[in-house]
Amino acid sequence: MQIFKFGGASVKDGEGIRNLEKVIQEFGNDRTVVVVSAMGKMTNKLEELVDLAVNGKDYDAVLEELFSYHQAVIQDIMNVVPESYIKWEESLKECCEKVNGQDILWSYDQIVPHGELMSTSIISAYLKQNSQCEWLDARDLIRTDQYFTEANVDWVVTEKSIIKTLQDLDHMVVTQGFIGSDAEGNSTTLGREGSDFSGSIFAYCLGAESFTVWKDVKGILNADPRIMDQTEKYDRLSYREITEMTYYGAQVIHPKTLKPLAQKSIPLTVRSFEELEASGTLISSKNTKKTVPCFVFKKNQLLVTAEVKDHNFMNEQKLGLILQVLDLLNIKINLMQNSALTFSFCIDNKEFKARRIKELLNRDFILSFEGELNLATIKNYQPESFDQLPPDRSVLMEQKTASNYQVLYR
Ligand code: ASP
Ligand code: MG
Repeated sequence: MQIFKFGGASVKDGEGIRNLEKVIQEFGNDRTVVVVSAMGKMTNKLEELVDLAVNGKDYDAVLEELFSYHQAVIQDIMNVVPESYIKWEESLKECCEKVNGQDILWSYDQIVPHGELMSTSIISAYLKQNSQCEWLDARDLIRTDQYFTEANVDWVVTEKSIIKTLQDLDHMVVTQGFIGSDAEGNSTTLGREGSDFSGSIFAYCLGAESFTVWKDVKGILNADPRIMDQTEKYDRLSYREITEMTYYGAQVIHPKTLKPLAQKSIPLTVRSFEELEASGTLISSKNTKKTVPCFVFKKNQLLVTAEVKDHNFMNEQKLGLILQVLDLLNIKINLMQNSALTFSFCIDNKEFKARRIKELLNRDFILSFEGELNLATIKNYQPESFDQLPPDRSVLMEQKTASNYQVLYR
């Protein structure tokens, strides 16, 4: 069994879908599970739709845009509009009526999965013209809790249903990334960019031989090419190495993807759907020798400083209190430092989270906030790596270990 994952960029138009078929013909087999995202930027469009529909505003124009985008792709690659696709247009309309005035997170999870449902219904109808291909609803296979928009997988139920449905597979299957359902039959989603994770769930449950993520880059690069001019591709990485890269914010693969693969030593290949002869990056348990430095730049960072009110030290008990609040609010610290009377930490800047921090810590600490900051991380730095940082940076916080360097600056 092998798992392929195609992201939104790879299936954004008719040409992308023709190319997907080519990739499958060349590299797939009768036991390939193909996991696909929503087309192009359709998930963002669906998010817009959620906002309008929940608040009882007029959403017809957005709905129309969504439908005509998909219809244009269909027209490009097929002669008739597949029944299986029309069904999801109807379903999306019904959903939009149903969510008026309802809980926003639940509503999100009923509406947004339509991106994946529509893309896969079109792609499987297209593939069926030339090969045996079955469409499966991932919501019947991936069971989650009710933590809508960031749902957690129930591994026991999921593994059972994936094995039952797919273990004797003798033809290709096309299914959706990013989506599942709870025990009551509500749709759920696994978090933005979650299709990588879906692929990894299928790989784990089926004990697949391999998992391949087809992307518009030639593999895992040591920096975001939109930010740095010169980048290098890694030929090999260990699960550990890439897990650390995602921890620091490298947007190379969804962070939850790695653990299930590492647990069963399933190799992950990230490779280009454009340059099919290029080998990409192979990720496995094999430890890589010292790798080239990896650069991660994060914008829109918020520095929070908590100062004690009573001239006692910022001791472990006080630190514990702050960390508990952050845990409660589901906030990840990107960098932290303490002094005798203060504790400073840097987080992704989200207005409502800052407000909640204020509410919960104001009583015990004097709080100050500074936003619009940048955080750079260099993993496995070398002396010359520092030349890559902006020369005019005004540094607020810095940390250096034997292998990693982080700096927060204006
Ligand atoms: N379509 C979803 C998103 O754009 C999931 C994914 O692409 O991985 O976030
Ligand atoms: Mg995507």
